[in-house]
Amino acid sequence: MPHRLETESRKLLGRLREALAADNEGQARLDSVVNLIANSMQTEVCSIYLFRDTETLELCATKGLEREAVHQTRMRLGEGLVGRTAKSRSVINTADAPAEKGFRYMPETGEERFSSFCGVPIQRLGDVLGVLVVQSKAARKFTPDEVYALEIVAMVIAEMTELGAFVGEGAALSARHQQPVMLRGSVAQEGASEGKVFLHEPRVVVTNPISDDPEKENDRLYAAIEELRKAVDNMLVGARSADTDQIQVLEAYRMFANSDGWLRRMKADVENGLSAEAAVEKEQSLARARLSKSADPYMRERLHDLDDLSNRLLRILTGQGADAKADMPDNPILVARNIGPGELLEYGKKLKGIVLEEGSVGSHATIVARAWAIPLVINAKGVVREALNGDPILVDGEQGIAHLRPDDTVHAAFRDKLAMQTRAQERYASIRDLPAETKCGNVISLQMNAGLIADLPSLAGSGAEGVGLFRTELQFLIRNQMPKRAELSALYSRVVNAAAGKRVAFRTLDIGSDKVLPYMKPNDEPNPAMGWRAIRVGLDKPGVLRMQLQALLRAANGGPLAVMFPFITQIREFRDAKAEMDKAIAREKILGHPLPSSLEVGAMLETPSLAFAPDAFFDEVDFVSIGGNDLKQFFFAADRENERVRKRYDTLDVSFLSFIERVIKRCEIHNTPLSFCGEDAGRPVEALCFAALGLRSLSMRPASIGPVKHLLRRVDLSEVKAVMDEAIANGDQSVRRAVADWLVYQV
Ligand code: PEP
Ligand code: MG
Repeated sequence: MPHRLETESRKLLGRLREALAADNEGQARLDSVVNLIANSMQTEVCSIYLFRDTETLELCATKGLEREAVHQTRMRLGEGLVGRTAKSRSVINTADAPAEKGFRYMPETGEERFSSFCGVPIQRLGDVLGVLVVQSKAARKFTPDEVYALEIVAMVIAEMTELGAFVGEGAALSARHQQPVMLRGSVAQEGASEGKVFLHEPRVVVTNPISDDPEKENDRLYAAIEELRKAVDNMLVGARSADTDQIQVLEAYRMFANSDGWLRRMKADVENGLSAEAAVEKEQSLARARLSKSADPYMRERLHDLDDLSNRLLRILTGQGADAKADMPDNPILVARNIGPGELLEYGKKLKGIVLEEGSVGSHATIVARAWAIPLVINAKGVVREALNGDPILVDGEQGIAHLRPDDTVHAAFRDKLAMQTRAQERYASIRDLPAETKCGNVISLQMNAGLIADLPSLAGSGAEGVGLFRTELQFLIRNQMPKRAELSALYSRVVNAAAGKRVAFRTLDIGSDKVLPYMKPNDEPNPAMGWRAIRVGLDKPGVLRMQLQALLRAANGGPLAVMFPFITQIREFRDAKAEMDKAIAREKILGHPLPSSLEVGAMLETPSLAFAPDAFFDEVDFVSIGGNDLKQFFFAADRENERVRKRYDTLDVSFLSFIERVIKRCEIHNTPLSFCGEDAGRPVEALCFAALGLRSLSMRPASIGPVKHLLRRVDLSEVKAVMDEAIANGDQSVRRAVADWLVYQV
């Protein structure tokens, strides 16, 4: 960087800082910014375009174009050279703008007089907020140094926009993060709740983008990098005993933390007048822009690493977000791009609601949220960008909508909804101790799914007859290391005691797929849902399974015990798993420990193949539990975590129901007790159809027991079956419509 430009750029930033600090209205600030840049760069035109909404850019200030065009000229994302700069997130620099592809002539601005054009995106952490443009009459391309100076200025404008420096009355900009926003997503867990935004990854706010003391800023930058390097080195020492994959990632981190190019660029930014934080952010924004364009998986991973490292560096420099969990507001509503089940378990039941940009109905994080009846909206695009920590937010899990910073009318309507929800809960509480007996006299056993000690109080509260599925892996997921056998057996005996004589079906460890233990070597499998998971891990590496079986036998302490194995696909797997149980019993006998008074060993049917197992399987197994979540994904070949494909297939699809019916018939012939413990068991209409097909035991999240029982008690199953049969005879794809229409008249 030539010295002249270096000082010029610093001078410009110095003047910019003065202009921004002046006690001015937002519009006046914007006007002085464009004047300053045009004068300093000796260009005839300098303009700032900012987003009005997610699709529309507006000319917000100009020196050189017609002033009347300000707040009048608008263009869509991708339209014209300005729109293209924003869309491509990259600089457009041309000597002959009218000849450039996509040029759009805007007569009201008078810009036809100008030949050269340089547009630089105003972006902050990968979010494009607008475009900074300089134009001049002379046909020339702007030099790399000039472009660089513009990028630095654009960075400052981005920070100031985020901080609300350009907000004003009338046609001027309205403040970011202050308007009410309605975000439409999809339903993942019903229920309504209100609270305050709690960002999973808090946004770092940089309040000092400009500095006039490059030496001091460089010292700060170097000190922070030193701290970062030490932290990475410490992580590496900690990871020595772990697996090579983790070490490889950390080595990559170290490489970046020591990378000359990265440092050099940030140092140059600081020397040109940016603060250390702003320099880190500028690099991070560029990396994010590259990330959005790169399809190469290796490159994307490295850019992710760089992003993560920049976040760490920003946190060191600003001291923000170091201890995020300490700042949880009252009634926290978690807002995140996505979240894994382990992380969600760490937050615990404190959360009042969850809103995710991504997420999926079939993921285990969703299952955890459902188990805890925490309203959850997924696919709420833009929520992470819009929300600030502490913002008021309403989550409408029924409609799949979140209202951020709601106005009074929305708030009032929402309160009515909450009141209705409470009334429904009261209605369900009134039937809690009554059986789920249909009008035709069939009694359906309603059980609950659980996974943590904290779930057990719901056993009494919900009226569940027992725990039809205890997901033991949740206990493993919330830890940082493998639990010991004594810990496990203490834990299971607490579960048994809390169940107070009600049956608990413990499912042995079901890991793999999206349930990844932080302390186990991740498997680099192309398709983890169909990979090395659940009982496959248990049989290939039986150490943990054996420990778990022993812990369960001890926890039963001479009482009854029910255990089931996940993801059994063939008789052989069941026999091998059962043999492990037999060995565990033999060992306990030798040790003189009490054996369970009764022992049931079951299998989860989660792949179609098990339905076609030899008769011997149904004779040997003590009970079968249908894991509908996995079964459905394999039946339809549709990933349970991929919303796009998952939504295509209805549980009440006649093919799926006929498959379930087949399983019911096989179990009936062999007198094998059968239950259904996937999420669908807790959906009233689905539960009704399963019962009509002959299922007599359903296990669901506790909050579903009331609504399911309420519906079951109002119907005659033979009538439901007749409606289903008629829909099938009509060639319907799904029986949903027919059953729903029929239900309207069954009050
Ligand atoms: C299922 O697959 O339906 C099931 C109950 O197990 P999980 O959701 O834990 O995979
Ligand atoms: Mg499963």
